[in-house]
Amino acid sequence: MEATRSVAVIVAHPDDETLWAGGQILRHPDWNWFILSLCRASDPDRAPKFRRVLTRLGAAGDIADLDDGADQHPLPPGQIEAVITAKLPTTPFDRILTHGPHGEYTRHRRHEEVSRAVAGLWRDGCLPTHELRMFAYEDGNRTYLPRPRADAHVVCTLAEPIWQAKYEIITALYGFSPESWEARATPRDEAMWHFDSPTALRQWFHDQGVST
Ligand SMILES: [Zn+2]
Repeated sequence: MEATRSVAVIVAHPDDETLWAGGQILRHPDWNWFILSLCRASDPDRAPKFRRVLTRLGAAGDIADLDDGADQHPLPPGQIEAVITAKLPTTPFDRILTHGPHGEYTRHRRHEEVSRAVAGLWRDGCLPTHELRMFAYEDGNRTYLPRPRADAHVVCTLAEPIWQAKYEIITALYGFSPESWEARATPRDEAMWHFDSPTALRQWFHDQGVST
């Protein structure tokens, strides 16, 4: 039995927390979860759904309103970092989860931007966490639904009841139809890269050829 932990999940959109890490959240209802979605606060559909999902997950959280237009213009440098700094509680976390530097599928720029912003904040000593984990999925350049990357550090196969609960959040609470990409994609295996220091993350980024 793992000790109670305090974990923050920093994602681009309402639903990313459930798609990529929902099983982990559902498996540990006794942990202190804080979920920050960086986009869609002014979306009259998604924002209230996100609040209901927080209640379902027993999580605290907040939602910001970064631009999320369909054209995916790059956000100005520093904007994501500023919003995270403003919205994230300053009490230390045991772990923070966020997007991978290449996103989880092909392609959403916001996922990649959020990953780099979180990494940069941690590197600069501005992120109160002992450990950082990044979602580790890929979709073969759209040839299949997202699946764990072969080089993921941690892969957890969800027990059927946990996966069902996660799937119900995507379909019943977020309202995605069973035919939707989101419902079909809802992973049964949750995969992450794990870093226990900014130095380890920097080295891994370097090895992966990821610029920060
Ligand atoms: Zn997203």
